[in-house]
Amino acid sequence: MRQSSVVIDSKLPRVGTTIFTVMSKLAADCGAINLSQGFPDFQADAALFDAALRAMRDGRNQYPPMAGVPELRAAIAGKVAALYGASYDAEHEITVTAGATQAIFTAIAAFVRHGDEVIVFEPVYDSYVPAIETVGGQAVYARLAFPDYRPDWQQLRSLLSPRTRMIIINSPHNPSGSLLDADDLEQLAALTRGTNIVVLSDEVYEHIVFDGVRHQSVASHPELAARSIVVSSFGKTYHITGWKIGYVLGAQELMSEFRKVHQFNVFTVNTPCQLGIAEYMRDASRHLGLAAFYQQKREFFRAQLHHSRFELLPCRGSYFQLARYSAISDLPDRDFAYWLTREVGVAVIPVSVFNHHGHDDRVVRFCFAKQEATLAAAGERLRGV
Ligand code: PMP
Ligand code: GLN
Repeated sequence: MRQSSVVIDSKLPRVGTTIFTVMSKLAADCGAINLSQGFPDFQADAALFDAALRAMRDGRNQYPPMAGVPELRAAIAGKVAALYGASYDAEHEITVTAGATQAIFTAIAAFVRHGDEVIVFEPVYDSYVPAIETVGGQAVYARLAFPDYRPDWQQLRSLLSPRTRMIIINSPHNPSGSLLDADDLEQLAALTRGTNIVVLSDEVYEHIVFDGVRHQSVASHPELAARSIVVSSFGKTYHITGWKIGYVLGAQELMSEFRKVHQFNVFTVNTPCQLGIAEYMRDASRHLGLAAFYQQKREFFRAQLHHSRFELLPCRGSYFQLARYSAISDLPDRDFAYWLTREVGVAVIPVSVFNHHGHDDRVVRFCFAKQEATLAAAGERLRGV
């Protein structure tokens, strides 16, 4: 190991390694069943691999256009029109990104200036605030209160200031599994009317909404859509989190600013994988069937914990299940997560890590994007505590 001679004034002094990396490593070290980091433990569809391989063999291996291959942008435009009744121009209003994390970082870097405020809702997905702070912005925290994690629009109103540059929303919500409904979008539209606030809408779980409820995309709300960047990720939709491909939608003026940063941030995204996804997407049943697919897993996992001492909170969307554990332990949630991983052999995410002062409702997050055998094995261990 070398020691650097540079004295570093960290831009992110409070940031360590992400909890997802920490818990997945601990799970691996302990041989625990990993229900912490959100990723499927089952294989994606071979038809998708065939399509990507075909593109490679056809010689589609050089830089694609900066905004993404036309085939994929057209497929995205078609899907968004069919689902949300919104017409986004594939040439100017859709950009393919290297996953949602890059999309979110790029959107923040494109619009947030030094000293600007960005309102986030906590529990907040862990990449938003470091991105805001890297570019010199300041996060302002609105609460999604335990146990239903609903937004309080009165509180949001009180947080608005002339320095508010952006509001970030996330539905279905990670980690809580809560949803924004049509009325929430109305409230957000009313609160931002007449301002220059950009809405960044993280909709990576757009196809994982349960109990027959429709996902309320910002894309389907014309007034909000005009001030929004909407983010999605194929990692969630097609069980390929490691491919790191997603996309953003936005009005041309917003997208043009987004692309100014995107082109010097990643420039372009993996060509054959984009082409593979474009071909695979033609069959809409593949994304339309996702809600039923994961609802079955949600039911299966909840049934596993039915006779346990965990108290399950509602899960309306995403592939995460929250649970209280006060009947089992008084430990703070981080310590409880470490204990559960080491001693019980099931790794989870402590929800306090998504709160900026570490506010702890003593709740942990399970990922149920797993094979039934994995969920059953975890269930057996969890019923034993
Ligand atoms: N936003 C949320 C809410 C997420 O849960 C995730 C990943 N799990 C991302 C963004 C990042 O997605 P990607 O892997 O496509 O970067
Ligand atoms: N978003 C995934 C989760 O919530 C993890 C992604 C990551 O590890 N950065 O678990």
